[in-house]
Amino acid sequence: MSTPNFGRNITLNPASHFTPKDEEEVLAILRQHRGKRIRCIGRLHSWSQILECEDILLDLRHLKQVQIDASQERRVATVGSGCQIKHLLAQLKQSDLTLPSVGFITEQTIAGAISTGTHGSGRHSLSHYVTGIRIAKYDTVTGDAVIEEVTDGDELLAARCSLGCLGIILAVTIECRPTYRVEEHFQRHDNLTSVLAAETDFPLQQFYLVPWLWTYVAQHRKETAAPRSSLLLVYQWYRFIVFDLSMHVLVLLASRLIRFHRCIRFLFRRIIPRFVICNWRVTGDSSQQLVMEHERFRHVEIELFVQRNHLPAALEFLRSTLDAAEQSSEPLKSNYRMQLVEIGGEGSLSELRGTYCHHYPICVRRILPDETLISMACGLTPISSDSNWANKDGLVDEDWYSITLTNYHSKTDLAAFERLSNFLANSMSKLFAARPHWGKLCPLPVDQLRTLYPNFERFAAICTASDPNGFFANSWTESLFPRPLSRRARGE
Ligand SMILES: Cc1cc2nc3c(=O)[nH]c(=O)nc-3n(C[C@H](O)[C@H](O)[C@H](O)COP(=O)(O)OP(=O)(O)OC[C@H]3O[C@@H](n4cnc5c(N)ncnc54)[C@H](O)[C@@H]3O)c2cc1C
Repeated sequence: MSTPNFGRNITLNPASHFTPKDEEEVLAILRQHRGKRIRCIGRLHSWSQILECEDILLDLRHLKQVQIDASQERRVATVGSGCQIKHLLAQLKQSDLTLPSVGFITEQTIAGAISTGTHGSGRHSLSHYVTGIRIAKYDTVTGDAVIEEVTDGDELLAARCSLGCLGIILAVTIECRPTYRVEEHFQRHDNLTSVLAAETDFPLQQFYLVPWLWTYVAQHRKETAAPRSSLLLVYQWYRFIVFDLSMHVLVLLASRLIRFHRCIRFLFRRIIPRFVICNWRVTGDSSQQLVMEHERFRHVEIELFVQRNHLPAALEFLRSTLDAAEQSSEPLKSNYRMQLVEIGGEGSLSELRGTYCHHYPICVRRILPDETLISMACGLTPISSDSNWANKDGLVDEDWYSITLTNYHSKTDLAAFERLSNFLANSMSKLFAARPHWGKLCPLPVDQLRTLYPNFERFAAICTASDPNGFFANSWTESLFPRPLSRRARGE
């Protein structure tokens, strides 16, 4: 059975596909298919090779129980891996609890979200808040299928964001917090310095670089004790009709049907900015205010994470690249040209010239450094003494900023965006140590990915110890974390 992902850029064709009813059935499948490669899916909202599955595909949608421990000293929920975040939030709300962080949408499963380091703005990624994981895997001595609880040490740091490589996640225990309200309003900013300065007052804010206008629109957000606004419902309809629907319809028309670059530029310079009502301050529950309906229209994304000290230059570089990709004659700024020469990227940029006009606001979100081994926002501090990153150049754990480029072209027209994504990931990882989101387009070669994570080798070692035969790998994760035993053991 062929299974496409949300973005329709990947189709899975596993040899067998199972939706087990409970943990016992998962163990039975593991026993029956020992020696094959086994991968899981959540709601297929990833766009990267992390989804690929050659042999056995497990969909754990029936494992969706939620158990809440709301005692003062330990507010946690233990959640079946296939539970979607929206259902988890609904159940938590009944106990006046919520998650410490949420992304744009809540369609993802808890296991899928933590496996790729899914995040929102102003807090850590969800992975950081995980305190325990229940995993089905093979016992490394007996070879039998067993269940393991991971609750501490480097193993927990690895399991918090594991790209599906440590085994089948059955349940996740995650910190919760009392429900809270968020005040939000839109504001325009002419420059980055001014948007970043607003972070002190609005720590949960996210902001957008408006293409072709090259100014910023911020969604200023902060936690508040104020009551719900009387106009909350009106505001939510405004956001839904104007941004979630109308803006997307216009973007689709301009990018898929009309397709003239001039038309797209006009849309962002003259029309879309008029939608924004500034300074309308509205308070509502966090789980409504922080979430959008970004899943309504199919699209593809790349998201690159840089530390704060790199953000201004990274956004400048991005803007110059988008200018050059849009207009074949746009001259390069000299500092930008020198940077490209340094990393040998001039040739790739000349191939892009005139081929692509970006057609969606570029979202920037702040993520606090995670305590994980390989989530995109994990810090730069190596955890083991043998790491080759130890104290390199006195690097400190600064906040991370993710820069998201969203594309609405149809599958047949996606090539230009893929070329742009390759170029940006390659050049920005060299220039700004930018890390691509594991769940979004992730076009970096393994060698380059490895240099971006100080604890990459530690994660690889934990992978090897936990799954020496690579039964829970696919070919992409196997290339990231090769295991000496894996191919021989499977007789390949
Ligand atoms: C519209 C849209 C909006 C998004 N917004 C955000 C956002 O705001 N922030 C952000 O960071 N990301 C965002 N994403 C990306 C998304 O959160 C991640 O790709 C996430 O991993 C998808 O979750 P899923 O449940 O669909 O998992 P899938 O995409 O189905 O699976 C991802 C991987 O998780 C692993 N996995 C899943 N279940 C298990 C299990 N039981 N055991 C072991 N491994 C497992 C597997 O390796 C699998 O390949 C968005 C994606 C979309 C489509």
